[in-house]
Amino acid sequence: MKQKICIPLLKDHHNHPSFYALFNDCLNLQEIKDKQKALQMVQSLDRDRVSVVLGWNTGFYSFSEEELNRFPSVIIVNISLHSFIMNARAETALKEKYPDIVANYKNHSWYESHFARMMIFMADMAEPTEQKVKTLFDSLYEKGVYYAEDMLLTGEKVYSIINASPYRERTAFWADPATFKNLSPGAQKGVKGIKLFTDGALGAGTAALTLPYNDGKKAGLLHTDDELFRQMRETALLGKAVSVHAIGDMAIFQVVRTVLRLRDEGFPFPEVRMEHCQFIDEKTAHEAKEMGIILSMQPNFSVDSTVYRDRLPARYLEQNNPFRMLIDKVGFIPGKDLIFGTDGMPHGITTALQSCLFPPFPQQRLTLDEFIAGYCMPDKSYGQVEIEVEKI
Ligand SMILES: [Zn+2]
Repeated sequence: MKQKICIPLLKDHHNHPSFYALFNDCLNLQEIKDKQKALQMVQSLDRDRVSVVLGWNTGFYSFSEEELNRFPSVIIVNISLHSFIMNARAETALKEKYPDIVANYKNHSWYESHFARMMIFMADMAEPTEQKVKTLFDSLYEKGVYYAEDMLLTGEKVYSIINASPYRERTAFWADPATFKNLSPGAQKGVKGIKLFTDGALGAGTAALTLPYNDGKKAGLLHTDDELFRQMRETALLGKAVSVHAIGDMAIFQVVRTVLRLRDEGFPFPEVRMEHCQFIDEKTAHEAKEMGIILSMQPNFSVDSTVYRDRLPARYLEQNNPFRMLIDKVGFIPGKDLIFGTDGMPHGITTALQSCLFPPFPQQRLTLDEFIAGYCMPDKSYGQVEIEVEKI
């Protein structure tokens, strides 16, 4: 027997509204699983400018050099945002303004160590406007999302637009150190915290895993321990919260030991968050819990256990997003020190709920109560969504 119940709107703790707002109207391949269709769609893009295409999943298809060069000027961005390809036409159009990016973007480790800059480079291809911001937040609302935290502010202009809009209360901003330094004092004050990175992403084969990927390649950490320590110490001195991207087990170990070292040396933060932590193990989870680190995770990425079967050793397929271990064994509490976000992959409450309740592996499953606690607004006063569940 099914019954209908109402739940509060989504509180998406990890998204990129200042990035996605710019690209509302661009081609997104996320739902396009058929390569022929994708080829046609990219082929029919504007011939007068460099277009950005989002949502490309290398688990579905890739493009040959020849196919790429038949397209109009285009940058096709991996769904993870951690790599892109562009054709010769786009390279020619961009190499004067961005010589180092055009020369180096194909080098995965270079890309990862300049990740925030690469996001801002892509953002540069589009102009922020009030209308674009409105379109994004309105479409999020239609998809059942009230709040969408911005994990990488793309610049002062988009900040000013959102800050002066009614959408301000529906987000919080994190900025990478270089962007933060260039912001006006007012915008710096308005930024909640600093975003740092310790590894790349599975989609690009750059998440720092202890075991090599199935093709024999290994992805390393972006920083030495001392470099990360220095970056975090500088952040601590700003008095801002810190949020650290760490997907692979090696990256997670590094974040936890660095936070421990900072604590021992007397550099406190208002808040420490670790983003993604898909391959956290039980011992490290206990240490993170003990240090008060908030885990900010993406149930939507539970599906990586099937989509990335091509590249991930079997052990990792089962270890991805171990929510049951975190909650039942280590005592993380959804909504308190375990929070959830979509990363915009995709936006909306439907996939978010689906991937919590019906993930590929049992250890990834969350109950509806855990979903509401870790992934929804505190109550229904912001709006509600009707869902159908099995009657108990
Ligand atoms: Zn993100």
